[in-house]
Amino acid sequence: MSKRRALITGISGQDGTYLAQLLLEKGYEVFGVVRRSSHAGIFDHRLKWLGIRDAVTLFDGNLLDLSSLCRIVQETQPDEVYNLAAQSFVMSSWQQPILTAEVTGIGALNVLEALRLTRPKARFYQASSSEMFGLAQETVQSESTPFYPRSPYGVAKLFAHWSTVNYRESFGMHASSGILFNHESPLRGIEFVTRKVTDGAARIKLGLETELRLGNIDARRDWGHARDYVRAMWMMLQQDQPDDYVVATGRTSTVREMCEIAFEAVGLRADDHVVVDPAFFRPAEVDVLLGNPAKARRVLGWKPEISLDQLIREMVEADLARLRAARPMSPAGTQGSF
Ligand code: NDP
Ligand code: GDP
Repeated sequence: MSKRRALITGISGQDGTYLAQLLLEKGYEVFGVVRRSSHAGIFDHRLKWLGIRDAVTLFDGNLLDLSSLCRIVQETQPDEVYNLAAQSFVMSSWQQPILTAEVTGIGALNVLEALRLTRPKARFYQASSSEMFGLAQETVQSESTPFYPRSPYGVAKLFAHWSTVNYRESFGMHASSGILFNHESPLRGIEFVTRKVTDGAARIKLGLETELRLGNIDARRDWGHARDYVRAMWMMLQQDQPDDYVVATGRTSTVREMCEIAFEAVGLRADDHVVVDPAFFRPAEVDVLLGNPAKARRVLGWKPEISLDQLIREMVEADLARLRAARPMSPAGTQGSF
């Protein structure tokens, strides 16, 4: 029997890399869309980190270019398509709202159109986000909680989510939307708060920095591990019927509590080093997110296996190792800008 074929947009990102690894382990042929960069060697650094660069086939394309997507779908003839590409950083979405709407919103519609036109039988996964709940209308958010996005990113994700539902209902496509709560890993971008904190704690431990400047440390998030969450994506596309699922741990913690875990992991106290800096406050905040993953558990049989404590400790260890090897994953000096 020929191998199943999967196409991943955003394969160079955190989730794309872990998903590619999972699909390779399951015997898939894995293809990815990568956008051109003037910096050779940057686009595939995560794939190299996991040791799977040579096991996947990459295609030059862009979510903004429907023709590139049609060409790649035609060339790869995928059975499953995972749309993970996005301008994914909430804070940047106020600085680049139109780009965010185009890539994160219209980009998803472009992928759906490429499939409708050239490969309508392929199964489609859309990377939706708990940021769509924003100013949460229920204490615990589930698939039936009304949406109230609080950032251009959340608004764009909502457009992509409803486009997915609409293509399912209009054209009978096998299109599913995973409403994933925050998930992290050693491959998380340095601009996100968990990685900023684990990198910061590691730098302070090694004497490279003395303080860590953060924004709203009272914000609460339901944090899980990316490795657990990409498994849920795959499970959604194995169902006979497409649907929407919340993927979360069902536990919420403050940024402050997450900092305490990171600093404790290197034998320090967060209170001695964390400085609250209003420069990192957002124009509109999502104060608390807490998901109810009951449907994913019941229908998919999914449950998270890695705790917040294990996650943060793994991230701190990875950052210590990177800094000790003096080959940080991101260019030096990026920390202060986010
Ligand atoms: P990342 O930011 O790590 O990855 C985003 C990916 O999108 C990168 O591969 C990036 O490429 C690619 N990309 C950006 N713009 C374009 C474009 N115009 N054309 C093609 N590719 C593009 O995100 P994550 O892996 O963390 O998240 C994956 C998806 O899940 C995203 O859609 C995100 O919004 C969503 N999500 C993530 C959550 C999380 O907690 N991680 C929670 C809920 C949803 P490049 O490497 O060139 O920048
Ligand atoms: P988000 O939930 O997708 O916006 O993920 P982030 O990791 O960027 O932010 C999670 C929460 O941490 C938000 O409520 C931020 O306001 C809060 N936060 C506090 N300080 C910082 C900081 O310095 N950087 C980032 N990125 N977030 C911070």
